[in-house]
Amino acid sequence: MSEISELARAYHFAAVRHVGQRRKGKAGEPYINHLTEVADLVAAATGGGDVELVIAAVLHDVLEDTPTTGAELVAAFGARVASIVAEVSDDKSLPKAERKRLQIEHAPRLTAAAKTVKLADKTANIRALAKSPPADWDAARIADYVDWAIAVVDHCRGTNAALERLFDEAVAVMKG
Ligand code: ZN
Repeated sequence: MSEISELARAYHFAAVRHVGQRRKGKAGEPYINHLTEVADLVAAATGGGDVELVIAAVLHDVLEDTPTTGAELVAAFGARVASIVAEVSDDKSLPKAERKRLQIEHAPRLTAAAKTVKLADKTANIRALAKSPPADWDAARIADYVDWAIAVVDHCRGTNAALERLFDEAVAVMKG
């Protein structure tokens, strides 16, 4: 199957799995918009030469936020895509604070591919917070999130200069 067919299949797989989910922001954007943004960021920042990396970006939340299993991802998109997605997925059995702490702790040991997806994900999340913050988040909660995202990203630096710059720009916009 061609790479274009694989990529199209990944977008459709993500759209079906995340159907009905919306972003936390007050605009309530369809969740797929987050996935298309992260994939676009990854593709543009890497020259679009690695289709499996872009597919992993499209699918990066499918293990964490849908009933999809790792075995299913291996069968549908291959071992490398499945392993990049697994690397950027939190263990949902842990409490939220522990998951956030582990993201910082694990970040330095991620593969370059996983760091690239993570950089794009955090960039998209900060942009979303600036444009459409959740209605029930006060300024302190937003500031906490931004500080945590900076801590995760600081452990991913040296991976992709273009994405790191876009993240810094998003933080600068956020902080006004
Ligand atoms: Zn995400």
